[in-house]
Amino acid sequence: MLDCAIIGGGPAGLTAGLYTTRGGLENVTMFEKGMPGGQITQSSEIENYPGVTGEITGMDLMMPWPEQCQKFGLKHDMVEVKRVSQNEDGMFVIYKDNGSTEEAHSVIVGTGSTPKRAGFAGEDEFFGRGVSTCATCDGFFYKGKEVAVIGGGDTALEEALYLAKICSKVYLVHRRDAFRSAPNTIERLKNTENIELVVNAVPDEVYGDAMGVSGLRVKFKDDTTRELPVPGVFVFVGNDVNNQVLMQEDGSFLCDVNDWGEVVVDISMNTSLPGLYATGDMRIAAPKQVVSAAGDGAVAALQVISFVDEKLNA
Ligand code: FAD
Ligand code: NAP
Repeated sequence: MLDCAIIGGGPAGLTAGLYTTRGGLENVTMFEKGMPGGQITQSSEIENYPGVTGEITGMDLMMPWPEQCQKFGLKHDMVEVKRVSQNEDGMFVIYKDNGSTEEAHSVIVGTGSTPKRAGFAGEDEFFGRGVSTCATCDGFFYKGKEVAVIGGGDTALEEALYLAKICSKVYLVHRRDAFRSAPNTIERLKNTENIELVVNAVPDEVYGDAMGVSGLRVKFKDDTTRELPVPGVFVFVGNDVNNQVLMQEDGSFLCDVNDWGEVVVDISMNTSLPGLYATGDMRIAAPKQVVSAAGDGAVAALQVISFVDEKLNA
């Protein structure tokens, strides 16, 4: 019987592992389907993790985290979790894809989320070399330069406004001329001088060379095209929350999720089900940053220590 099962070994899960074990829990396992480190290991440069200066890749940043956790006793099971459920006696059951199960008094989930790709030519080839899905992460690399933003929802518009403060110009490329965003956000967008709306247009191809992106060709509904001479293209066309482990056999979720599949938590990362915590990119209002995911992991771990203590001593 585990004191705590941690699902996902990104910044949220690893930090939860560090704080639970260092805080005295003896039987904690982190279930991670791949190498620990999470999605930041795909990044060729991270500049905004506090205290880390100089050029450092996401892989460099995450490399020491698992070893630090193991030092305090965190166990790592390299396996994909299919589902987390709760028994009638209140114990959580972890169903693994190798067919075995484990029981735990508490569970911290940190399985992240995956930004969708728009599917235009060059998008995958130049991902991380001029194509990005994170303005907070990469916007600064285009300070004083022109960039394009793809999408017409709240995320695209809010991120376009964020980028307009850093970049000299933002082209907002949207496939319709109406936006699915809050009216005041649309108003702010239209009143921002250095944002140009490129509507009824879809990205056709992003191109460049070994140095990165040099431009984006967009195609309008009448089949005409336009070249945007941008070194950066930000894609915000929706997000898949990795919440599958919380889905039960009848299709319901183990705890409350919102209309977009994000797990509803309070300020202490408590979900609607006592003993179950959600952290990092998968939770509501997530800033989707390494530092915030790590912070969530620490907050959830401190809750778990009290929860397990009260449960075992009840
Ligand atoms: P993740 O990092 O997504 O980790 C989730 C983990 O759960 C993964 O390791 C996954 O394998 C595992 N998992 C998922 N499902 C299962 C399952 N069923 N069973 C077992 N394991 C499972 N942030 C910054 O702060 N600064 C940056 O500069 C920055 N740049 C970025 C650049 C790129 C290219 C990308 C992709 C992201 C970047 N981010 C950046 C965002 C940052 O990586 C995320 O906000 C952060 O990693 C979220 O951490 P997490 O622990 O919530 O989830
Ligand atoms: P979204 O609302 O699904 O918007 C995605 C946008 O991308 C849409 O405008 C869509 O166009 C466009 N799009 C989708 N696929 C595309 C493709 N292949 N090529 C080009 N364009 C494509 O996603 P989101 O903006 O990430 O928001 C998700 C949810 O979170 C929304 O419900 C949103 O309200 C919410 N959210 C809220 C806030 C806030 O309240 N402050 C902030 C962020 C997000 P169409 O419009 O034509 O479909």
